[in-house]
Order: sequence, then C-alpha cells, then structure tokens
Amino acid sequence: VTGPCCPCPSPRPHPSLPAGKGSRECSGPTRVQGLCSADASGNSSSEDSPSVFTFLSFAPRNPMKWLDPQTFYFNFDNLQYAYGRYHCYLCFQVEREVNGSLVHVDMGVFVNQSADDNCHVELCFLSWFYAWLSPDERYHVTWFMSWSPCSQCAQQVAEFLKKHSNVNLSIFAARLYHFKDPEIQQGLRTLKRTGVQVAIMYFSDFLYCWNNFVRHGGMRFIPWKGINKNYWILVTTLEEILW
Ligand SMILES: [Zn+2]
Repeated sequence: VTGPCCPCPSPRPHPSLPAGKGSRECSGPTRVQGLCSADASGNSSSEDSPSVFTFLSFAPRNPMKWLDPQTFYFNFDNLQYAYGRYHCYLCFQVEREVNGSLVHVDMGVFVNQSADDNCHVELCFLSWFYAWLSPDERYHVTWFMSWSPCSQCAQQVAEFLKKHSNVNLSIFAARLYHFKDPEIQQGLRTLKRTGVQVAIMYFSDFLYCWNNFVRHGGMRFIPWKGINKNYWILVTTLEEILW
C-alpha cells in the first residue's frame, strides 16, 4: 500500500455559496505560524541537489471548491486507527505577503483520484501551484489533510521548499498515516527540518475547514465524540516522532 487513494468525486462548484469568500483578506487559522522554510534551513536554494520532482510529470489538475458534509465528517474523523478511508483529502489555502500583510490568493480541495493514481494530493497541489507561482512573491500555504504525508511525498515537498524559499508551508493533519513506519516518521522529521510546521488538526481547525471548505448549507459543525481526546493522542504521537 503506497498511499490512501481510490476513485474520487468530480469537482462540483456550488453556485449558492457566497462569492465574497474568495476575495476576502484572509488571516488564516490562528495557530498558523509564520515559519519560513528559508530561515529554518539556513541557505535553502543554492545547492543543486538532483531534482526528483515527480509531480512535474503530472498534468496540473484543478482543485475542487467544496466538500460535502458527509465526505468531510467521514474523511476527517481524527481516529488513531481509521479504516476504510482510502481517499486522502487536502484542503489548502494560499496567501501572499503584501506590505507585511497576508492576502488571500486561492483555496480549494485536492483528493487522490483513483486507486492507480500515483499523484498523491501533495503532488497534485505542487503540480497545480508550480504552474503559476511567481518567484517574486512570498507565499504562505496551509494544508489541512485527512492523512499526514507518506515518506515519498514528504521528500518531494521538502525538495520543493528548498528550491522555493519564497514559499512556506504549514500542514495540519487530521490523522497520522502509518505512523509506526520508520520511513514515514523520517519523512515528517524531514518536513520539520525544512521549516514546515507539522501539526495535528485541533477543534478550531476542523471548524475552520467546515466553514471554508464544506458546502454546509448553513448547518453548524457538529464535533464527533472523542474529537479532543483523539487530538491529544495524536499530538503525543506526533511529538514523539518529531523530537
Ligand atoms: Zn504520498
């Protein structure tokens, strides 16, 4: 098993949602810190490590705009051991720095497309992002992921950030993917060493995703049983991996 993936729903933008959402000044979730990949890794972009950007072999896909409530509840359930979640969902927001403030650029959702699909969501995002990012802007990217990255994706993301020191990334994962696998643990440490904020989704992050990525039709987010207890279990596990 190389990653959580299987057939995915096609993008279904919803006309009745507020158009202003995409144009607001976006301050992002409160726990997102301004970690800078260039700062954290010392000199980041000068070395010419052999490029292994497999995401470049994937044609850029457009992200979905919204998740259905059921899809969100099922796939973002923060269980320590989750069965039947073959998709990996990645809700992202991209902001850029303008005069010291963060301005919303775009947001959306990627999902693994099929069981044969080698383009994990992280690489789907990079392929899409790489197609338009400017070297002259500074970007703050936030991912809310149903599963934390696999080792190969972690490596790709770290390489990408080393070569694009104008991009910093925060990852909030609902669950830890194969967290006992030493290679996957190493991948998470590599991300952290590269300057990525790697964290577990907290209640406020689920709420943020519900409000910004779910076609909820006015329904309030109803936290599932154990959401906080599960959070603390996962945080403890992640801390043990990262330290
Ligand atoms: Zn992966």
